[in-house]
Amino acid sequence: MKKYLPPILMLVIFEAVAVTLWQTKDNIFYLFNFSYIGCSIALGMFLFIRKHRNARRIVQLLVGLYMLIYLGLICRENMQIEGFWYYLFTGVFEAATIHYAVAKIFGPLIFGRGWCGYACWTAMVLDFLPYKTPSHERKNLGWIRYVTFAASLIFVAALFLAHVGNIERIMFWAFIIGNAVYYAVGIAMAYAFKDNRAFCKYFCPITVFLKPMSYFARIRVTCDKEKCISCGKCARVCPMDVDVRDNSRNRKNGTECILCMECVKNCPADAL
Ligand code: SF4
Ligand code: SF4
Ligand code: SF4
Repeated sequence: MKKYLPPILMLVIFEAVAVTLWQTKDNIFYLFNFSYIGCSIALGMFLFIRKHRNARRIVQLLVGLYMLIYLGLICRENMQIEGFWYYLFTGVFEAATIHYAVAKIFGPLIFGRGWCGYACWTAMVLDFLPYKTPSHERKNLGWIRYVTFAASLIFVAALFLAHVGNIERIMFWAFIIGNAVYYAVGIAMAYAFKDNRAFCKYFCPITVFLKPMSYFARIRVTCDKEKCISCGKCARVCPMDVDVRDNSRNRKNGTECILCMECVKNCPADAL
């Protein structure tokens, strides 16, 4: 029974957030939203403990589809980075800003880049592609993320500075077009680099928030050196090129870990 404590704890944390936001914002949407996400993540953790091989993918689909279709297309909430800038400029602490605060800015201090492994609707599609582990060395293209990050900020700032009317409608279309572009670029990069996660490594603007915050993550995969037999399998199966055998925070690509647990599942010595 003790092994099921983590999913129960996760559910309790999400329920606490759900009830707090419901009461403070006087909006029952938050109760539904965070309860749904908490249940999905707890279910995934439960399945992982039961050694279900698709546990992560199930959470990714449950949360990713909910955010993309229900929040994005039906509720017309732009949860992309330009939506975050938009709500920040208008001074509204609502869905997109709360989402960024929880999942991408402060949450990573606890669960690192769990968002990237279990909830992102872009990676949800990219993970279906054939290149699950990179076959080539990582390229020196991380600078692209700063260009896309700046472009998203300049785009929204320009709308405000030019006093463009009906920005909310523009944000909805920016969400649709932005996602279409992300999927097209992500799929093209996956095939070009033979790496499903090339988009995450080089292009995604959100990593500008995620990487520095996840450096301090409480939840990390660490290696028991006493058990490790140096077979190198963890490095071969890692989609993000993390040197998980090094326990220091400065380990190679340490801020790239998406907690997918592929290394843990494949370690023959149970050292991770
Ligand atoms: S790096 Fe960006 S695209 Fe990749 S999983 Fe994370 S948020 Fe999604
Ligand atoms: S897979 Fe396990 S045993 Fe092999 S190198 Fe990695 S941590 Fe060590
Ligand atoms: S394989 Fe291990 S080190 Fe690599 S991203 Fe997944 S959890 Fe992190």
